[in-house]
Amino acid sequence: MQKIILLAIGVSIGFTTAQAQAPSAPTQKANTRFEQLGPMLPTPNTFRTASGAPGKDYFQNRADYDIKAELDDTKQRITASENITYQNNSSDALRYLWLQLDQNLFKPDADGNTTETNSINAERGASPGQLDPSAALRNKEYGYTITSVRDAAGKALKYTINQTMMRIDLPTPLAPGKSVSFAIDWNFNIVDAKSVGARSGYEFFPKDGNYVYEIAQWFPRLCAYDDANGWQNKQFLGQGEFTLIFGNYKVAITVPNDHVVGASGELQNPSQVLTAAQLTRWNSAKAKGDKPGENPVQIVTPAEAEAAEKAKPTGKKTWIYKANNVRDFAFATSRKFIWDALQPNVGGKRVWAMSLYPKEANPLWGQYSTRLVAHTLRSYSRRTFDYPYPVAYSVHGPIGGMEYPMISFNGARPLADGTYSQGTKNFLISVVIHEVGHNFFPMIVNSDERQWSWMDEGLNSFLEGLACLEWDPDFPARGIEPQYIVPYMQLDSTQQVPIMSSSDNILPNTFGPNAYSKPATALNILRETVMGRELFDYAFKEYSRRWMFKSPTPADFFRTMEDASGVDLDWFWKGWFYGVQPVDQSLVKVDWFQPASQNPEVTKAEARAAAQRRANTISKQRDAATKDQSVVAQDSTMKDFYNSYDPYAVTDEDKKKYQDYLATLTPDERKLAEAGTNFYTLSLKNKGGIPMPVIIRMQFEDGTDSVARFPAEIWRFNDVQIRKVVATSKKVTQWTLDPYREIADINTDDNSFPALAEPSRFQLFKQQRGGGATAPNPMQQQRQSQSTPPRPAVQGSGRN
Ligand SMILES: [Zn+2]
Repeated sequence: MQKIILLAIGVSIGFTTAQAQAPSAPTQKANTRFEQLGPMLPTPNTFRTASGAPGKDYFQNRADYDIKAELDDTKQRITASENITYQNNSSDALRYLWLQLDQNLFKPDADGNTTETNSINAERGASPGQLDPSAALRNKEYGYTITSVRDAAGKALKYTINQTMMRIDLPTPLAPGKSVSFAIDWNFNIVDAKSVGARSGYEFFPKDGNYVYEIAQWFPRLCAYDDANGWQNKQFLGQGEFTLIFGNYKVAITVPNDHVVGASGELQNPSQVLTAAQLTRWNSAKAKGDKPGENPVQIVTPAEAEAAEKAKPTGKKTWIYKANNVRDFAFATSRKFIWDALQPNVGGKRVWAMSLYPKEANPLWGQYSTRLVAHTLRSYSRRTFDYPYPVAYSVHGPIGGMEYPMISFNGARPLADGTYSQGTKNFLISVVIHEVGHNFFPMIVNSDERQWSWMDEGLNSFLEGLACLEWDPDFPARGIEPQYIVPYMQLDSTQQVPIMSSSDNILPNTFGPNAYSKPATALNILRETVMGRELFDYAFKEYSRRWMFKSPTPADFFRTMEDASGVDLDWFWKGWFYGVQPVDQSLVKVDWFQPASQNPEVTKAEARAAAQRRANTISKQRDAATKDQSVVAQDSTMKDFYNSYDPYAVTDEDKKKYQDYLATLTPDERKLAEAGTNFYTLSLKNKGGIPMPVIIRMQFEDGTDSVARFPAEIWRFNDVQIRKVVATSKKVTQWTLDPYREIADINTDDNSFPALAEPSRFQLFKQQRGGGATAPNPMQQQRQSQSTPPRPAVQGSGRN
């Protein structure tokens, strides 16, 4: 029960601040949390404006590629050559060019391997993999073998390889506005993707002796040269991804003639690589995919894929792809691939939504993958811009999830018996949406991944969460729900780094929350709690539109979100993106005030009740039985006026005085004086650090409730403790801060007033530890009973 404090209402109805009962004012503490980011952001210039839009001198260089590649399916090797035309749109003459040699990460002596830290635990021992994390890279020669670098005339160009970067020295500087063409030949052994933990590679299927290849980071490609970094030639250490520039690609991929290929871009020669029946099916898939229940068309059927698995190739085939305005190129190939397709309408244009997967991916993939691709393109397009590419593939192989322009590699494989857990199904939904979604960030909104993981992963994980909920409102979209980032935010400051950290410096065991869910959750909080959906959605779309096919920096994002919404968010970027402090609000106490009535009927009745309470002492209660024996009771001559005087009786004079008082009030003042309004002073603390909006639920004594919201700027004069008066006509019985868990408060124990007693649960009997595998669910039980003799019911599956 709260303490009630009566306030005197003067003639002016002002609450005097001199009330003795009022808590002392919190100590004033100046804070800079609401100062502008100022010098923390780069100075705006003619490349990038103060509004967050590209400036009048914004430029980006470009590289066009003509690549011929051949897969050796017996040795798992790629041999290839490329002609590159590089266009210098900067105003600087370039004496050399930098290219990325990502495959060199797989040389055991690459920095990415030698700087891995490890240790030996004397008690538990160490596995060979722990002693030598690069062991899987020593069974073959990995990394690029560059066999030729020459200019357009065929003359050798001087080049220097520094780990994963190659500098080509130009005979004459490349002048602004000019282009240069050159050619490179190379080959490399493809890594076993799973044993190396790579973003591309092969998987061998021992049951049928075939391979699935998911090939990426497979050709020497230009680094970005821009106004923000000059050359972005920061080494590839394995964690920080890729910084790339746009260009047009023509790629001819030669594979065994029983393989099916999917790649970034549009297939140019379907009639040369598909059978007549497959071509017919391809055509029949056109314009399908807008109606619910429209199933993908199988261009290569499971039966055809299984027949190919058992046969041998009789020659080679070359699949030719073209991709315009892409920043990268990847492909997948296997004789095991089933291929299905839809061609839904996305923003007024037909786009191929397609999947490639071996039979091991069914039944999940046949049912879900291509539908998810179509859903992703529609959902993301609504929130950003219409998907500009003609194709989007989802491919199943060894890679858990990795994105490239128009093609993504996704895991989520059912068990060998075809059953799958709910986790596997949810993983398929989220990973396909996520990796296809990466087409928008960073494939089109082309941020610098080597430096800023959050700019693509965070923004993409945010849109992924929204798309998952549009797919199924019950989907556990934990990557954007504030309460699920709490365990990460609870880590002390030595166990995390700010979101605004260079990708390779993000602590490996917190890479997921730092680069994905913390920024994604922060955006969801902006949308739901700080800005509101309408302002947020408009600004986010504006950022996407401004930087489509361009390369934004963090400042461009921060500035655009404010520029387009009119909401000052510098405090939010500081707290969530530049800092490691958590959110922890505390409702210290609530003081209850009511205006003191001047009505003598009320005031005297209250005074009488108070006097009676004071008089009801324990001695008086015990003496009650003998009170007739008192002197005054037994001798009436000992009584006078005061023995019957009632000081709490309302007199005519009291009534007149009250009427005189009322006559001085306006009607509004009269209402306030007599309405019995409750005034509550909330004492709040910001214990965590990040100032956030104050959201408080009031539960009233009549069982109803109401939520009051105050913007984060309520903390601008004092970021440690504040007070706020809330007026209600009904009495509040319970106060709860952040009732919908929307600000990621890391400690909600101090969010209720009066405090709520929560029982600590204990086990009455000690449960057996390590209960073993989870019992199969009905889907798995049904499958097991079909394929194996029924087993006796498991006894004592609970505890014994
Ligand atoms: Zn991602």
